[in-house]
Amino acid sequence: MPSFQSINPFTGKTIQKYPGDSPETVNQKLDRASNQFASWKKTTFSERATLMSQAAKVLRDRKEDWAQIMTSEMGKPITEARSEAEKCAWVCDYYAEHAEQFLEQELVETDADRSRVQYDPLGPVLAVMPWNFPFWQVFRFAAPGLMAGNVGLLKHASNVPGCALAIEEIFREAGFPDGVFQTILISARSVAPVIEDPRVKAVTLTGSEAAGRSVGETAGGALKKSVLELGGSDPFIVLEDANIAEAAQVGATARCINSGQSCIAAKRFIVVESVLDEFVEKFTRAIKALKVGDPMEEDTRVGPLARKDLREGLHEQVMQSEKDGAEVVLGGAYLEREGYFYAPTVMTGVSKGMAVYEEETFGPVAAIITAESETDAIQIANDTHFGLGASLWTTNQDRAERLSHEINAGCVFVNGLVKSDPRLPFGGINDSGYGRELSYHGIREFVNTKTVWMKY
Ligand code: NAP
Repeated sequence: MPSFQSINPFTGKTIQKYPGDSPETVNQKLDRASNQFASWKKTTFSERATLMSQAAKVLRDRKEDWAQIMTSEMGKPITEARSEAEKCAWVCDYYAEHAEQFLEQELVETDADRSRVQYDPLGPVLAVMPWNFPFWQVFRFAAPGLMAGNVGLLKHASNVPGCALAIEEIFREAGFPDGVFQTILISARSVAPVIEDPRVKAVTLTGSEAAGRSVGETAGGALKKSVLELGGSDPFIVLEDANIAEAAQVGATARCINSGQSCIAAKRFIVVESVLDEFVEKFTRAIKALKVGDPMEEDTRVGPLARKDLREGLHEQVMQSEKDGAEVVLGGAYLEREGYFYAPTVMTGVSKGMAVYEEETFGPVAAIITAESETDAIQIANDTHFGLGASLWTTNQDRAERLSHEINAGCVFVNGLVKSDPRLPFGGINDSGYGRELSYHGIREFVNTKTVWMKY
């Protein structure tokens, strides 16, 4: 039986060890999920909404507890952890309020006396989740999923078992019946049999491309619906008519939020040549101003990376790119202190073929790429196998409207940082995955879109 441990990335010390679930306990949990679904699916939207609003309340009332767990287990700055708990409460409230309307039956005129489309729940849905937004990623699956009448099973990332159990506690404390939301502590290796189990009806994964391929393959083999929210190498495009000071300031946040460990963090800064020097100067200054340190301190903006191996991987990408001709103008090294800190890094002269151009960088490393023109900038932005988000900077509205169609990504934010919002669909194209979360699109991913045709 595997065991899991929380390691504080700020100290490198073990916080707690947790015994994993054995195949027998997983089996019991699947039984419980399946049995509970039979009654949960019959509850009304209003009954579910009452419980979901209660979950929002538990999130808000005990925000500090949840924030402390997140920060100590994966190192995000405490102020961001509190905002994350708040955002989870928001998504619970949002679906408590809107789920019924999103899943309303649609009457359709046909040759029947009455025909319609209705959205029935599917059953137990497995969620395989990452550590980087250890609460938000889970709630944005769970809030719509449970409101739709499904029951949830969470397999969280192995380094955040404390968060995984805390989320289960939130649903319990909110009064959800036993089995509507359960955490299973299993390793990645044990995921496939759970997907294949006939009691599990669908799977959603947020994580890396490799994990996505594996889960997608298993789900496909078992003919089960899947949603994959994978990595990205989001472009942050700065055109010559942009407000450079603002772009530089927002760009620094967009790169370093969550200590750079966000799927939608800006990763490739594509800057038109005529404004390059000004942007690099202002951007580097803004990055330098971010306080790096103890994530429990209120003014810390960049904490340690979540795991030792992640820091090693990031440094490899930086060193390899430097060897291939990029220039490190800031950072580029481990910080000489305890914890898995990586210095906020700015690299210029980045070009095709370099690791920081081709791959996702999951940490505070900004790759600056020079573009000759707007056309060149868009070509570089689209020169990626990913397609999650994109940020475009220009003061010309017509230009922004036109280019929003030319950028290949799941979203384009103009003069702003890419962010998720319960009201807007979220997801990617290409190797960033498929399917959508949030908004009415998200809640309709895991339902049976059922046609009902009746003659009286
Ligand atoms: P990861 O290593 O892929 O892990 C994500 C989850 O998948 C974990 O629970 C992991 O379990 C599990 N997993 C890994 N390999 C698996 C396999 N072969 N079969 C089944 N499950 C498997 O990713 P991460 O390092 O935690 O998270 C970072 C990645 O997530 C980045 O690429 C980031 O861009 C992406 N991400 C995407 C979004 C989005 O919405 N598009 C949001 C956040 C993050 P173990 O921990 O036990 O290995």
